[in-house]
Amino acid sequence: AHQIQLVRVCVQDLGHMSRCREVPSGRFLERMATDGLSFPSALFAFDSSARIVPGAGPGPRSGYPSWHLQPDLSTFSVLPYAPGVARVIADPFEAKGQPVDYAPRHVLRRVLERARAAGFQVKGSFEFEFYAFARDGDSRGQAPVSPDAISPGPSSPHPPGVPAWTGLQCFSEIKQAALEPLLIHLVQTLEAMGARPEVANTEYGPGQFEISYAPYWNLEIADMAFYYRTTIREVLAQHGLKATFMSKPLSGFSGSGAHLHHVLHGSDGANAFADPKARDGLSQLCRWFIGGQLAHARTVSALMNPTINGYKRLQPGAFAPHWITWGYDHRETMIRVPPARGKATRIENRLPGADTDPYLALAAALAAGLDGIERRIDPGDPVADRPVSEMAAPLLPRSLSEALDAFEEDPWTEEVFGRSFKEQFLRLRRAEVERFFRHVTDWEWMEYEDIF
Ligand code: GLU
Ligand code: MG
Ligand code: MG
Repeated sequence: AHQIQLVRVCVQDLGHMSRCREVPSGRFLERMATDGLSFPSALFAFDSSARIVPGAGPGPRSGYPSWHLQPDLSTFSVLPYAPGVARVIADPFEAKGQPVDYAPRHVLRRVLERARAAGFQVKGSFEFEFYAFARDGDSRGQAPVSPDAISPGPSSPHPPGVPAWTGLQCFSEIKQAALEPLLIHLVQTLEAMGARPEVANTEYGPGQFEISYAPYWNLEIADMAFYYRTTIREVLAQHGLKATFMSKPLSGFSGSGAHLHHVLHGSDGANAFADPKARDGLSQLCRWFIGGQLAHARTVSALMNPTINGYKRLQPGAFAPHWITWGYDHRETMIRVPPARGKATRIENRLPGADTDPYLALAAALAAGLDGIERRIDPGDPVADRPVSEMAAPLLPRSLSEALDAFEEDPWTEEVFGRSFKEQFLRLRRAEVERFFRHVTDWEWMEYEDIF
């Protein structure tokens, strides 16, 4: 009916990427009914570079055998922005049929299984922010797109690489008006893909946007986030723009978060975080859940912010968390409880950056919260009427390296995410950190060249 010619069979790898094979639709139907689709396991040995990390994936002695891709047909969707193309998310399996247990989607499934066993379903959505840059390719130092860039307006002199316009465009009606053709295309596309967009606006940074969408259940929360980023990038590319979900693309400007709004529902189907009788409308279970997320924040930070760059977003004064805190409708906290109560009661975990792996971030949030419920962890006092910096609250890790140490040191991470995942994740991320440690950055050049 949709004249589909090609099916993208996609997998989220451990190097933050969606990998896919393009299969002609006739072959897709044939293959799926018979021998399935093979996939080179070496792709799970890449970190964010195009290099194989020694010992990662099945390892060099294995000869990197082919894995088998099992499409999850419930995720099949026609791509409204790419005529003739459909996409399906697949799970990798080893030759003998056992799941590749360190693949992010399998990791999340195992944590969701724990939630189910404890009697809970999770409902939620990621709230992504992103930047749009004026051209494709290497966009560093280029002015990000703004309405001024689309219809050139006066620009004041400014140092190279720093846009003339500032955060003043945030929510500006007149600025957004100029972007409406682009926003219409984005919103229509998301709608056609079933993502039910809710609100679109420009954000604090120049060329920064946010488009939120309605919540989903369980695995679909992460699947939708997986589609979302690719969709936004592809649609913006059709407008000659480059979208980036890097957490902190520009020094000195707002970073991009992927706040996770979520709530548990009990076996009776009711919102388990709501308690109309409580003074603040939150159930005891919700408090323990928050307590668990605070208690494990350092440990799971690497899962929510898996890049070197992500830690540059987590600065004070940027509406991103820096300290491990919670509060009612407070944007400097890590866990913000939005004002909605009753059926709409939920929490917002503001720790994930836009470059997060949604499968791992959701798995981390859920595992931490469930542990809070199991061990009845009290979250302590919320932040109220005081700058967060004065609360003497513990700090989040300041770097990926520090976050990986915290993840490695805690035996709980092996128990909930699995031993092979822990090993693989650490090996790949440590390789990334090592490459960075060896790289001389432009900051060092600017800072030291003239002094020494
Ligand atoms: N850009 C902020 C972040 O890095 C969030 C701003 C907001 O509250 O929308 O998380
Ligand atoms: Mg925002
Ligand atoms: Mg938010």
